[in-house]
Order: sequence, then structure tokens, then C-alpha cells
Amino acid sequence: MQDLPKGLMQDWSMTIDKVLDHALAVYPYQEIVTRSVAGPIVRKTYAEVHADSRRVSEALLANGIKPGEVVGTLAWNSEMHIETWYGAMGLGMVLHTLNPRLFPEQIAWIANHGEDRAIFFDTTFMPIIEGIAPHLPNVKLFVVYGDDSVIPADTKIPNLKSYESFISGCSGQSVKWGDFEENTACGLCYTSGTTGNPKGVLYSHRSNFLMTLLSMQSGALGISDKDVVLPVVPMFHANAWGLAFSGPASGAKLVMPGARMDGEAIYELLDSEKVTVSAAVPTVWQMLLEYLRKEDKKLPHLNAVAIGGAATPEGLLRAFEEDYDVEVFPAWGMTETSPLGSVSKLPVPLQGLPDEEKMFHKLKQGRPPFGVELDVVGPDGKSLPRDGKSTGHLMVRGPAVAKAYVKIDKDILDDRDFFDTGDVGNIDEYGQMHITDRSKDVIKSGGEWISSIELENIAASHPKVAMAAAIGIAHPKWDERPLLIVKKAEEVSKEEIYTFFEGKIAKWWTPDDIAFVDDIPLGATGKINKLALRETFKDFELPDAG
Ligand code: AMP
Repeated sequence: MQDLPKGLMQDWSMTIDKVLDHALAVYPYQEIVTRSVAGPIVRKTYAEVHADSRRVSEALLANGIKPGEVVGTLAWNSEMHIETWYGAMGLGMVLHTLNPRLFPEQIAWIANHGEDRAIFFDTTFMPIIEGIAPHLPNVKLFVVYGDDSVIPADTKIPNLKSYESFISGCSGQSVKWGDFEENTACGLCYTSGTTGNPKGVLYSHRSNFLMTLLSMQSGALGISDKDVVLPVVPMFHANAWGLAFSGPASGAKLVMPGARMDGEAIYELLDSEKVTVSAAVPTVWQMLLEYLRKEDKKLPHLNAVAIGGAATPEGLLRAFEEDYDVEVFPAWGMTETSPLGSVSKLPVPLQGLPDEEKMFHKLKQGRPPFGVELDVVGPDGKSLPRDGKSTGHLMVRGPAVAKAYVKIDKDILDDRDFFDTGDVGNIDEYGQMHITDRSKDVIKSGGEWISSIELENIAASHPKVAMAAAIGIAHPKWDERPLLIVKKAEEVSKEEIYTFFEGKIAKWWTPDDIAFVDDIPLGATGKINKLALRETFKDFELPDAG
């Protein structure tokens, strides 16, 4: 970089403790409401959460955990989990969210790889911790959320304390937050790792701070102190899409669902707390809609839902908008992008389009907020035209995008410092990005690409189909041809599904066969587990492949 004169502005280190300090200064009355794992609803103000976060800091130091060391959590979304985040991050410790949906051996591997020194967890996960504790030699402290009554008398977990006794006796008064450089490590999250070992993404205070600001733009999630926000998306899944930061930063009331994410439980919170904005993966919303239909309930308070982690099916978007008057914002992101990368809100010039065309644009993954750059490149690494058609590898660049993985000595950026997302898609003249596949899931037929996601979305919008997955099956002539795997919602024939595809896709995209299954396996973040499906169907013979 060139050496030019410096501006004369303050060096105000962008550290994440300032988020909760801001909430205390400006929204001390605002609440975080949690459905506790034990059942009852717990209410705390931001002022109380701030005070208890400082008590956590004091207790961590008193128990020998030092700034720079890693504090793990295996926990649902709750006010205590938030306090642990800020209590650790505020001191310059690294908060490592562990995903309880992984196998215990994987959790132990990740905690060891991350060098966790302490682990906080919910009672739900007591059996997991009991099983893995002997394999976690670096962990000096275990804290279970609750009071002493949640600790079994015969527990084998060493150095186990209850959260209440851990912070009792601490006032938090003496604690000093911040006062370190903004590029200091702040949070750690491992990608779900469908192939090979999971990879650690190490966020900095600066990256989380900037992600907080950029996610609050109106073109992104745009929440404010008028909102009541229910993050169903777990804090262990890419920082709950930043809501544990943007909630307090914007003064929104947060409603934390704890361990229950079924349709009934989510509906109850949406209704009783008058939630205005919520965020979750499509499967959660499908469960909610099933419940609403069965019980004939409405959603009078809810204004908008963000749907991310996987493509938004058209049926889901239509049900929310047409039956419940709730706006839908499909959103794309990944652990490596902190996570928000784009949000789909219809560009102004497209708002007058006929319904069908509007739907096509709304279902795209959307436009990046200011602070995220997207590009689509061809096999030669050169940018493709922004015409909504030229499809290639989706690349991303920005101050909240990973430049390396923890302890992996490999350059993951291209020569322009863009990160290859592993997604395949295109960008149109309005900057709207559309993902057509994962690069490893795309079905390569005769040198051309068939989008597995598009086949899945069309099949899943058939009223008699509960869920659908498309995978490529080896073919002697075409390399690969699509097989559609369907979980029925009610009795449906192959012919009915084939008829449904007619006119919606090019003829050569039509699946060569359809297999019906009782269940489609999901991975640890609720997405279809294609790896498992490929294994199950590895010897499948397509009708004309012989
Ligand atoms: P993770 O790091 O577990 O959050 O996974 C990130 C990946 O999820 C992305 O690279 C995409 O493949 C997928 N993904 C996330 N959001 C969307 C979306 N809105 N549409 C399609 N795929 C998505």
C-alpha cells in the first residue's frame, strides 16, 4: 500500500464490549426474554444482562482463565449464553460456540483443536459433556447453566460448577472490558465440515463489529428498537446470523427460544412476546406453518422473517406472504462470512413486475449489504457478466470474510483476495445474486450443469411432496444424470411429479428417475445431507444407464 498522510480522527478500537455498553447507555430498559431449558420464561433487561456479563468476566478471571484463552459453549439461545459471550469477549477471551448437533467425538475434536480452556453448557447436554470430558485434557473448568440443583450428586465431570454459584459473590465492578486492539480474536466457529475435518473460522472484534453495523442496514436485516426479534437460528450456527450483536446494538428486544424450536413452541413465543422479526432455516419455518395450519392460528404481530442457511422454497415464501401477511427475506451467508453475505429485498425498479416475475427475483439470494463484495467467476478466475445468466463460482470479499482457517497453513484467497464460497451462481444487473448450487452438488450432465437446488425447489413445491433432494448418479454417456429423492407428504406417483416439472425446466434437466424414501437425512445445521444420500444411492442404477 502507498504511504500517504493520515487523517486526524480517534483510534476508537472497534471491540464488541462496546455493543453491550451501548445497550446499557441507550436501551437499559429493553428486555432479553428466554424460554429457559427448565421451562419457565425468564426476563432480564439489557442493564441486568450487562451487569451479569461483567460478573461472568470476574468469575472467569477468578477461575484462572486468561485473556487470549478460549471459552467454549455448548448451549441453546438464552440470556445466560449471551452473558457468557460478552463476559468472555469483553476481556479479550475467544468465545467458541460448539454445535451440539454434531457427534460427541466431533465436538471433542473441535474443542481440542480450538484449545478450549472452559466449557459452559446447558443441562440438555450433560450426557455429551460426561462422555467427552475425559477426552478434553485442556479444559480446566465446566459450568452448567442453572443453580446447584442441576448438578447430579454422582457427576463425573471434573471442576463442574453451576452458573449461579459460578457468578455468585462476583460484583463485576472491578472488571475492565476492551482496551485491546480491534483485530484481537473474538469468536471461533467451526464449519459443519461435510467433507474432511471441520475448519475453524476465527472472528476478530473488528470483523464482528463491522458485521453488526452492516447487518443493521435497511437493505440487510435492518432491525431497530421498535423490533422484537426472535433468533431461532442458534448462536452456535454462525453467530445466530449476528443477532446476538445487532440486537443489543440496535436496542431490539430479543426473544430466545432455549431448547424448544418446534412449531408450537415458536408460535407461543411469537404470539405472547409480539415478535416482529424472526430468523431461521427453512425446516423450522415448515414446522411452524404445519402447526399454524393444523391449529388454525394467525401471526398478527410478525412483520418479517429472514430465511437462510438454504434456499427458500417458493411454497414457503408464498405461504408466509399470502396466507399470513408476513414479508420474507431470503438471506445467504456462511460461517466464513460472519455470516451475512446477502439479503433478498426486491430492487425498486422490479417492484412493478407481474407476480410471477417478482417471485423469481424475490427467491434469489439477494444483494450484498454495503461492506460485502460479491463476484461470480468462470473457470479461468475472470469475472462473468452481471446478466443474471452467466453462472460460475461465487466469490466474496470484505472486512468480515475469513482469510484463513485456524491451524491450516493454506492460502484460501485468490489473487484479488476473494474467497471462493464453494457456491455456484450468477449476479444480475441489479446486483441480485442467485445461487444455483453448491459446486460439489451441481449435477454435471454432458459437460453442462444441472442445478440440484432448482430441481429440489420445484419438487418440494408440489403439495404432495414433503421434502426432495436431487443428486447426480454416474451415467456411462452423460457422466452424471439427476436422481430425485422424495419424501412424500401424501400418496403421490412418479407421473404426477414428472407432470409437475413440465414447462418449469429444460427437458434435459428432467430427473432420470425418482426414488421414494421415508426420510431424507439432515446434517448438523439442518441442511440436506447429500453426502449420506450419495452413499445410500451409490449403487443405484438409472433406467436407461445399462
Ligand atoms: P454454513 O457455513 O454452515 O452456514 O453454510 C454456508 C452454506 O450454506 C453456503 O455456502 C450455501 O451453500 C448455503 N446457504 C446459506 N444460505 C443459503 C441460501 N439462502 N440459499 C442457498 N444456499 C444457502
